[in-house]
Amino acid sequence: MKRYFLVGLCVAALAMCAFLLLKPVDAAEWKSGIEWEEPKVIDPGSPEKAPSDAIVLFDGKDLSKWDGADKWEVKDGVASPVKGDITSKDSFGDCQIHLEFATPSVVKGSGQGRGNSGLFLMNRYEVQILDSFDNKTYFDGQCGSIYKQHPPLVNACRKPGEWQTYEIIFNAPKFKEGKLVKPGVVTVLQNGVVVQNNWEILGNTAWDAPPSYKPHGDKGPIRLQNHGDPVKFRNIWVRELRELTSKKPEPKEPAPKEKAE
Ligand code: MG
Repeated sequence: MKRYFLVGLCVAALAMCAFLLLKPVDAAEWKSGIEWEEPKVIDPGSPEKAPSDAIVLFDGKDLSKWDGADKWEVKDGVASPVKGDITSKDSFGDCQIHLEFATPSVVKGSGQGRGNSGLFLMNRYEVQILDSFDNKTYFDGQCGSIYKQHPPLVNACRKPGEWQTYEIIFNAPKFKEGKLVKPGVVTVLQNGVVVQNNWEILGNTAWDAPPSYKPHGDKGPIRLQNHGDPVKFRNIWVRELRELTSKKPEPKEPAPKEKAE
């Protein structure tokens, strides 16, 4: 009987040792301690529906959110230029833009003369729209380029007449006392493919002059170009972007060192 008791005691001791050896060392979880503003809950929408916090600039009904729209045509839920550019009545700084376009299905012209339009951020920085499907032109002027500054990383164009998407994430340039302190930065996805990756804009995208910045305010309108080609547009919306507010934790006083006796 005594022997069984001793064996039992040994087994219990071994089990205890195994438990202590295998028990994970308690590690305190690290948290930043930063008090972040709670991210707002939104409905992200769907390919056909804008996110709930978006400003819809064109949903197929009319171009009432745009200046110059009396010279454009809206038919069957699609907007097309007839004369002149259109400019959004609202102005935007840092923002996300969604836009769908289709270059003409009947192919006419070549190079810059084929399915040309453009989306101008802040009325001055052009993300080129062009029929670049099997249509050669200078690379920094093809579809998805920042006009005359940077070609698209790849040519992700669909065929003429097919609908294409632009997702644009734009951080507006910052000026202080008439001087540029931070260039504009743009990321563009064409048909879901990154064609501009955090590109630092070099200035206004003029046709007849090198890029250069001209100081302007924190916000500006979006402009869509009429280049004489009946490019179609639908589903245009913008989300204004801003950083969350946050509060850093107060630095902790270091614990006083214990004096050695
Ligand atoms: Mg253009």
